[in-house]
Amino acid sequence: MTNGTAVEVNDLHFTYPDGTSVLKGINLNIKTGETVAIVGPNGAGKSTFLLHLNGVLLGKSGEVKIFGMAINKKTLKEIRQKVGIVFKNPDDQLFCPTVYEDVAFGPQNMNLNEKEIDDRVHAALNALDIESIKNKSAHHLSFGQRKRVAIATVLAMKSKVLVFDEPSSNLDPLTKRKLIKTINSLDATKLIVTQDLYMAAELCDRVVIINNGVVVKDAATDDVLSDEALLEENNLEFISRCRVCSGKSGTENSFSKKQCRR
Ligand code: ADP
Repeated sequence: MTNGTAVEVNDLHFTYPDGTSVLKGINLNIKTGETVAIVGPNGAGKSTFLLHLNGVLLGKSGEVKIFGMAINKKTLKEIRQKVGIVFKNPDDQLFCPTVYEDVAFGPQNMNLNEKEIDDRVHAALNALDIESIKNKSAHHLSFGQRKRVAIATVLAMKSKVLVFDEPSSNLDPLTKRKLIKTINSLDATKLIVTQDLYMAAELCDRVVIINNGVVVKDAATDDVLSDEALLEENNLEFISRCRVCSGKSGTENSFSKKQCRR
């Protein structure tokens, strides 16, 4: 553990094989235990950036360090135990015949004994409140349930850094509310890519705006969400007041859970 820094990204560049240059010098530091929103317009490079956090993609130049360990081919296995990514589409994450097996898959690849694997699976299923569907196939579940199973697969790895790509997309309001509660309860360093600034306001201490492959703003949630011009420049929606309490008990211009008085 180095100086409390969980994620360190220095001058990261990435170009897809077809020549699309997407990351053009990303710099970012995330402290251990922080919850940070990554926002920005479509096509800005957010998902591409996330895929660098556990080495699904490796940058053309620059570096990413997790708890001080640089990500490269040699460290990939260790890094993937530290960083879990919950993909936008749970179907990219779930491929086993049952929910139990999906959740057990990661721990089974960590040379753990049967009991430890079983304990981890049950702890993850309980945390996500999906113990009752453990014998079902993910194909027979609702989208919201599949999202929860996808999160459980990462929780069972006991990842210290959790990365969520658009966790609230395609969820009905009640399922979204439950998911926000769940994410809030997880004890980890969290990065959340989202277009949903209400969710960012509820969950995140800091908001980082990525546009055109670089970080254009990195500041406290309230500072970012109250800057109407900045949000407009980056195709983001200005939200007029606190949604933690719907403006009922917070100050009219408070956006973050810290300022909310509820
Ligand atoms: P965001 O998550 O901010 O919407 P993405 O990281 O998904 O942005 O995409 C950034 C850019 O990279 C877009 O122009 C997209 O078309 C391009 N892109 C994404 N995946 C690939 C790929 N596999 N090959 C080539 N270009 C890609």
